[in-house]
Amino acid sequence: MKFNKVLKNVPLYEAGKPIELVTREYGISPKDVVKLASNENPYGTSPKVVKKIQDIAKDMFKYPDDSMYELKEALASKYEVESNNIVIGSGSDQILEFAIHAKCNKKSKVLMAKTTFAMYEIYAKQTGAEIIKTKSSQHNLKEFKKLYKKHNPDIIFLCIPNNPLGECLDKVEVYEFLESVDKDTLVIIDGAYMEYAAYKDINKKISPKDLINTFPNAIYLGTFSKAYALGGMRVGYGVANPEIIQNLYKLRAPFNITTLSLAAAIEALKDEEFVNDCIDKNFKQMKRFEKYCNDNNFEYIPSYTNFITILFKNFISKQVAQKLLERGMIIRDLTGYGLNAIRVTIGTTTQNTKFFKLLNEVLEELK
Ligand SMILES: *Cc1c(COP(=O)(O)O)cnc(C)c1O
Repeated sequence: MKFNKVLKNVPLYEAGKPIELVTREYGISPKDVVKLASNENPYGTSPKVVKKIQDIAKDMFKYPDDSMYELKEALASKYEVESNNIVIGSGSDQILEFAIHAKCNKKSKVLMAKTTFAMYEIYAKQTGAEIIKTKSSQHNLKEFKKLYKKHNPDIIFLCIPNNPLGECLDKVEVYEFLESVDKDTLVIIDGAYMEYAAYKDINKKISPKDLINTFPNAIYLGTFSKAYALGGMRVGYGVANPEIIQNLYKLRAPFNITTLSLAAAIEALKDEEFVNDCIDKNFKQMKRFEKYCNDNNFEYIPSYTNFITILFKNFISKQVAQKLLERGMIIRDLTGYGLNAIRVTIGTTTQNTKFFKLLNEVLEELK
């Protein structure tokens, strides 16, 4: 059968392995499996959100409010923008998809860092667009500037902070770069971990309102999957000027968010205390990771997120990840990104202690 030719070049996304798989393949009981592979909030969902979902579960026969009035109002109020500045998606992934499909065709070019969120490339390739990447793994705005001038791309992706490396650009340098970008180029600021970065260092904080008022060609993406602990509910959003939002809307299927997901996101926004507490715990645990790496002479990238990337010299990351998996510890091997490194989500105290112990055990075995 013939398919759209562009699909030949589209790689498949490899998601973090589910706990069920480790139970099936290695016979480890689910309660003994630790998953530090998808940057989920290890403290679980806010009890207030859980209660809300239990209360409204009976409403799932109803289609959701397709205008998403309440969630948009809540986000508009959080960010001090208008409802028409907001589009809601099934994860911010869906907003990425809308934005790329709204801008790109097979004559288009998109610009991104060499090592960044894999979905940028996948969605762009679905349109047949050409991918331009910097030489540096981490975001290097000098290189971005050069490549922007040379290629005049339709879209520029900035992942702030960056997944899977954890580094984070300063707001000032991002603004300085955006000054040099033409208003016809859509700049996607992916703030999936912005809550973490802003907490750690205020110089990293990008306010969607200020961003879109200063740069009408920018869109800010946020998600409920990470700090807000709703990965399974699939809710994300984009904040941009109405012209951009209206065009993204043309690609949206009706009812693209479920009734329960909408309610969960609205409730989660009311419990900022829970989110802040989780972020605070995250950076306390991050300190333990840094100490562990320093004590063991492991190289790591200082992180502004809820994960840390550890680089290996004397071990093969793929083998390390496999041996950890066999012991019920799921982390992310970055071989597919061209790095001999692993990415580990910062877990709870107990999960992290277990990770340190198992990694030492595995490396001893691989010596
Ligand atoms: C997790 C993540 C997203 C989006 O996740 P959704 O669950 O689709 O909202 C977007 N960008 C980056 C960099 C991420 O890590």
